[in-house]
Amino acid sequence: EHLAGHLPTRLKGLDKALCGGIPFGVVTELVGPAGIGKTQFCLKLALLASLPTSYGGLDGQVIYIDVESKFSSRRMIEIGSKSFPEVFYREGMAKEMAGRILVLQPSSLPEFTDSLQQIKVLLLQNKLKLLIIDSMAALVSGEFEQTNNPRQHPLAWHISFIKSLAELSRIPIIVTNQVRSQTHGDSLFSFQHTVGANSQMQSRPDNPSRFDSHLIAALGIHWAHAVSIRLILEVRSGQRYLKIAKSPISPPLQFCFEITASGISL
Ligand code: ATP
Ligand code: MG
Repeated sequence: EHLAGHLPTRLKGLDKALCGGIPFGVVTELVGPAGIGKTQFCLKLALLASLPTSYGGLDGQVIYIDVESKFSSRRMIEIGSKSFPEVFYREGMAKEMAGRILVLQPSSLPEFTDSLQQIKVLLLQNKLKLLIIDSMAALVSGEFEQTNNPRQHPLAWHISFIKSLAELSRIPIIVTNQVRSQTHGDSLFSFQHTVGANSQMQSRPDNPSRFDSHLIAALGIHWAHAVSIRLILEVRSGQRYLKIAKSPISPPLQFCFEITASGISL
């Protein structure tokens, strides 16, 4: 079974670069500006995990923590019916898949804490196959002072919990984070530079991606270290790009992608 496996995204180049897809047991972060497609990506992944194994899915329960109430079951059904019509139009299958995706909508930090606690119950039953948190940065309103002890960060417990959850349960965890659009100048420090994540990327002049400093301010360095894979979604000259910005196995590749009725595709 999928012990040390991957959840294939069915985005061919990405799956190849990540040796099969989103890996189990680590945190994968989707970062990008508003409207770029982070939630669209999450909806697709939720569907993929809920698919029967005979169709390449994980045949399991998904928890989708929808912090900003942006989850759309109508859109999910659209993506499902257009991407996997052969499964979706099988008697009762759409309903069964939808029933596997549990959407939690915490509206405050204490409620988010409760959401994470609920996960433990499902984990003990060994049914949970994917956890999505859309989005994490939305949970912290004010800017966190960098000089503070990371342990005093309002999400310190959550960050540790999420990381250890991935490691202990061996499920894939997807977290989104919004950054402001990429129109700021060089005065903002680059994320790679800050945490030394990927020196190859820094030296590429055609790759000017900067990690928005407000995200660092909001989530702190503790978070940056908790993330194993970072995918940056961005738009340049009207074209959407998905970039592997941090990965233990892949070089900093990038792919063009688009969003259609059937969801995100390369
Ligand atoms: P935010 O940070 O605000 O949550 P996001 O990165 O999650 O933004 P999404 O909601 O995933 O952004 O993407 C929204 C975009 O997806 C829309 O702007 C639109 O371009 C595209 N989109 C949504 N539904 C469809 C559809 N049915 N057909 C084509 N494109 C669509
Ligand atoms: Mg979104």
